[in-house]
Amino acid sequence: MPVQSRSRELGLLTALWIGLTISAGAGVAVYRYSQAAGAFEVEARTLHRVVSQRVDQHDAHLTSLAAILSGPDISIATLRAVADAVLRFYPRITSVEVISFEPAPAVAFATRAPVAGERDPGAVLAMVNGLQPGQAIVSSGTGGAEYDLLKRVPSGALIMSVDGARMIESDVGFPPGTDLVLAGADGREIARVGQETSSYGVLPLFQFEKELGSRSQPLVLKAFRRPSIAEVLSPWTALLIAACAGAGILLSAFLLKERRAAREARQRAQILAHEARLSHAMRVNTLGEMASGIAHELTQPLTAILSQSQAGLRIARAELSTPDEILEVLEANARLARRAGDILARLRAYVSKTTPPPELVALNGMVQDVLELARNDLELRGITLEVDLCPQTPISRIDRVSVEQVLHNLLRNGADAIQSAPRGGHVIRIATRLVAKGATISVRDEGPGIPTHDLPRLFAPFFTTKEGGMGLGLSLSERLVESFGGRITAANHPEGGAEFTLHLPVAASPAREAAE
Ligand code: ADP
Repeated sequence: MPVQSRSRELGLLTALWIGLTISAGAGVAVYRYSQAAGAFEVEARTLHRVVSQRVDQHDAHLTSLAAILSGPDISIATLRAVADAVLRFYPRITSVEVISFEPAPAVAFATRAPVAGERDPGAVLAMVNGLQPGQAIVSSGTGGAEYDLLKRVPSGALIMSVDGARMIESDVGFPPGTDLVLAGADGREIARVGQETSSYGVLPLFQFEKELGSRSQPLVLKAFRRPSIAEVLSPWTALLIAACAGAGILLSAFLLKERRAAREARQRAQILAHEARLSHAMRVNTLGEMASGIAHELTQPLTAILSQSQAGLRIARAELSTPDEILEVLEANARLARRAGDILARLRAYVSKTTPPPELVALNGMVQDVLELARNDLELRGITLEVDLCPQTPISRIDRVSVEQVLHNLLRNGADAIQSAPRGGHVIRIATRLVAKGATISVRDEGPGIPTHDLPRLFAPFFTTKEGGMGLGLSLSERLVESFGGRITAANHPEGGAEFTLHLPVAASPAREAAE
């Protein structure tokens, strides 16, 4: 994989990991926060119930104390005994006092020594004056976290002081950082337990606020707590989430990679299978072409056999014919028939892929053999052959039958070209040459030549300009020559007509190779 795309993939995986860790961490934090908020609400409601019960108890104490003060004979001793018992059992109730209004407002009874300037009996009188007998109100106490519960009694006012802080003390034990506040109906804070909760923080505040269920003491209980981040997402949980997210991403990346590799392997296998099918189809196609080509090639020896046989018949019927003449014809026929057999053997060899290895062939001799076989046929068509053989015969490593076949094709094409333009010459020239890189055999005719635009596609299968032509001779010739490392080219000769040249490899040292 290129370095660039690997680092891009790494960046993507890291971004995914961070994203997943943050979102999973946030999910856990939200869940824990809502759980903690629910628990806080439950604790606060429980405390609210307890504090409401305490307030009801105050009412009950006030009523019993008021009952002692309402009788015909007020027993201070009984009052003290009851008041002391209340104070002992309920430490949040800090004092009980009675202020009588007659003859002048003054403290008539108190469970604790009066503090100078602490409470003004006149002010108490003013507060309870408008109350019905038995009715109670709350007033700010003597200071600190206390509040007073005032009740009108026949002789004056009964006052019970309550420690607000103790009243809202919780037995359930809120977590540290919780603030509990007792407030009056007007919102004035009477008592606070805990440190003041910070008004700033990352997480929203847990809050509870509810009025106590008492008509005589309309007080409000408030609870606050700001949860810490560590409470909703501990470092260990965050680490665990990061590790799980990392492992999950790595596993997914691995599985994805495996899947991609499997898909690529499948695609490669499909391509291979496709290529195999294609190459089989191409081979079948080639075989088809080859078979058509061979059928095409067999026409030449068969036509030659026919014309030789006709000549033989003429000779046999003539009175002055000699056995030698007939023998000559029969020998030519036998050679042509052998050629036809060789051509068929080539087809078989091609199909079974056992094409014989190239052999050393003296090109001049081979050209002469081909011309001998073709001469009769060409003469019948009014065509003259001119042969120009290289004095030092080139020896080439070739497949002899294939090259013979190619030469027959070129001769026939040359003859066709000459006949297509009757006003031109009637000569086909064959020449062998030794050149720098090998040997050549050229076949040049005096036909009309090849139109320039046809030159590039001359060797393409099925290209033909002839009526009834198959367009296979040249493509087959090219393939045959190339099968042992040769080449075939076509050009128009400067003096007119077409010239086809076979470029053949020569043996490194003809004499030595021939000797081997
Ligand atoms: P076919 O002979 O069946 O047409 P070939 O492959 O042998 O098939 O030839 C293909 C075409 O090449 C011919 O139809 C012709 O147009 C052109 N050609 C071949 N030889 C010659 C030539 N000597 N002169 C002019 N044209 C030629």
